[in-house]
Amino acid sequence: MTSSRTKDVELACRCGGVHGVLRRASPSAVNHCICYCDDCQAFAHHLGRADLLDVHGGSDIVQAAPADVSFDRGAESILGVRLSEKGMFRWFSGCCNTPVANTLTPAVPFVGLSGALFQGAFDQVGPVRAAVQAKLATSPVTTGETGAVAQARMFAHVARLLLGWKLRGKGWPNPFFEAGSLAPRRPVTVLTPAERQALRATCGPPTARR
Ligand SMILES: [Zn+2]
Ligand SMILES: [Zn+2]
Repeated sequence: MTSSRTKDVELACRCGGVHGVLRRASPSAVNHCICYCDDCQAFAHHLGRADLLDVHGGSDIVQAAPADVSFDRGAESILGVRLSEKGMFRWFSGCCNTPVANTLTPAVPFVGLSGALFQGAFDQVGPVRAAVQAKLATSPVTTGETGAVAQARMFAHVARLLLGWKLRGKGWPNPFFEAGSLAPRRPVTVLTPAERQALRATCGPPTARR
């Protein structure tokens, strides 16, 4: 099957200003999931890009090894935001406010690429393996992707990927952090608690709006 072959996949923000590549992509080399957590929802709302959320408030995420992701154009317009002091680094394109990726510190060798960069072309990364944090969706999600079996399989897949990336040194180079100093390559702002709180009102679940 051709879908199991690895292939480079083009990544681009809405306006094309930020452009890059996910190398050697295949369904087994990455993890395609949907996240319904309120932080991912808040991030989209913060960018004014709630249009990118699915009908239940979900975001497509493709988790990949940092060394397999690079940007050949517009890297200088990528910006970072954290929803709180200790929150994930959430990267976006300053040109058109397209979410680019989520990362933890560079010690954890993974990049959660925003599905928006794939412009709808997910063939090479395969179907969604599982949906996470469905309890925080803006409306009930009842697909098989939220089931315990799908989630357990996905977490086992991610654990294998992370271990492999760590062992093979695929945490570097990292498109978002400098090697050595581990400093973010681009400016990162941290939302104030009040800003974060204001965003929460836009997120699910509807019965627990804070
Ligand atoms: Zn753009
Ligand atoms: Zn999330």
